[in-house]
Amino acid sequence: MQTVDTLEKEFKELLKDQDAYREALALVQWDLRTKIPEKGAEQRSEVIGFLSQKMHQLATSDKMKHLIDQLKDKTTNNVLQKSLEECELEYKRSIKIPDAEYKAFVTLRSKSESVWQKAREDNNFSLLQPYLEELVSYNKRFATYWGYQDNKYDGLLHLYEPGMTTEILDTVFEQVRTGLTKLVKQISETKIQPDENLLTHHFPKKDQENFSLDILKKMGYDFDAGRLDETIHPFAIGINPNDVRVTTRYDENDFRMAVFGTIHEGGHALYEQNISKGLAQTPMASGTSMGIHESQSLFWENFIGRSEAFWKEHFDLFHSYAPAAFHTLDFSDFYTAINAVKPSYIRIEADELTYCLHIMIRYELEKSLINGDLAVKDLPEAWNQKMEDYLGIRPTSDREGVLQDIHWAAGDFGYFPSYALGYMYAAQFNNQLSKEMNIEQIISSGDFSPIKNWLTRHIHQHGKMKKPLEIIKEVTNEPLNATYLLDYLTEKYTKIYDL
Ligand code: ZN
Repeated sequence: MQTVDTLEKEFKELLKDQDAYREALALVQWDLRTKIPEKGAEQRSEVIGFLSQKMHQLATSDKMKHLIDQLKDKTTNNVLQKSLEECELEYKRSIKIPDAEYKAFVTLRSKSESVWQKAREDNNFSLLQPYLEELVSYNKRFATYWGYQDNKYDGLLHLYEPGMTTEILDTVFEQVRTGLTKLVKQISETKIQPDENLLTHHFPKKDQENFSLDILKKMGYDFDAGRLDETIHPFAIGINPNDVRVTTRYDENDFRMAVFGTIHEGGHALYEQNISKGLAQTPMASGTSMGIHESQSLFWENFIGRSEAFWKEHFDLFHSYAPAAFHTLDFSDFYTAINAVKPSYIRIEADELTYCLHIMIRYELEKSLINGDLAVKDLPEAWNQKMEDYLGIRPTSDREGVLQDIHWAAGDFGYFPSYALGYMYAAQFNNQLSKEMNIEQIISSGDFSPIKNWLTRHIHQHGKMKKPLEIIKEVTNEPLNATYLLDYLTEKYTKIYDL
């Protein structure tokens, strides 16, 4: 019989081993997406496969099972207890899928991703259709293996947003959708039409980079524990708590891509940089859910980065890097242009107001697919119809419609709602924060540390120790409430568009 002490020691060692593979994998992936020479990529995917398999083996090992069985509910160490619960969840999830079935799924997924690229290039959904049909049926089975109470879709949703249910989502999404479609319609009928061309003057990459670096510093991003690099699809990645990296993408004819992209990824990075160091080398040292992570990036990108106070405060700094063509811009024209609202086909190009509608379309469709209410062959038509219903525009090709995102082709169902949840969480945090301090005044002071410290105290430091809905409840004293997002958007856009 092993003592609790010995078991704890063994468990910590196992977590460290797991974490070493995770760190290696993260670094290798960062390199693959930023610095690797073209010819190096081929062998790299084998290395990624190998490291992922090692992690999986540790997570499903007999040793892991033994430690969970012997130590859970016996340890008095809170971090270890939560880690045991997390490991148990992962263990159960993994062993429920037969090995051969999971391997076949992984192979199918990687084939499907390359077929998706071709289907998108050729604007031909029928190429992808058979793969998607198979991926949907895999996901239906996974949802059944993992279990759910009322709705099969919950079995998948829980992976990304623990504790969230289709029932809650249906209610809040309906509320937001009704409010947003009304606002979008009002805006389309006003005379005020922002001129986005004001923003598309040439702006050299180096100067955009220097401006982005200054903003990251002001946000409180720690450059001794991170760095900024260039990539095609921007992301932030926690290698370890003292090495959290940000990437961005430059378009010399549209500085918005790099500047707002960097602020967004910077928000993700602040979360990972400020997780309590006591959680390091355990599964608790990461963001608690996709939705809460997204709330941090969106809070900085939109609530701070697209606010009037932010640009008033940084207009001189912006001019110090921007070419002459920007110097004669009227501030209010500039501010209106960076907040222009216009229904568009592509999700990642959508503005702050219409973005959630794009997400709701995907949510409703994937929920119907998983519940068997929609056949894959009918997906393009269903997509186009919803675009017309919610955004008032109808895609003329599947490339600008159902084929635009890789998520489904990569076998990921249940992930999309996180993006819209992030907006709602961010608005609810923002509302609470504004009760405790004058956000505008802080932005105008140029010292963001009170905001960053508030986020760290209430959200960042806890890592995975608290579940998303628990954080929302504790920080704002109420459950998820979509009213705050609608109020924020209504107030902001009523002013900009003089509704
Ligand atoms: Zn994000």
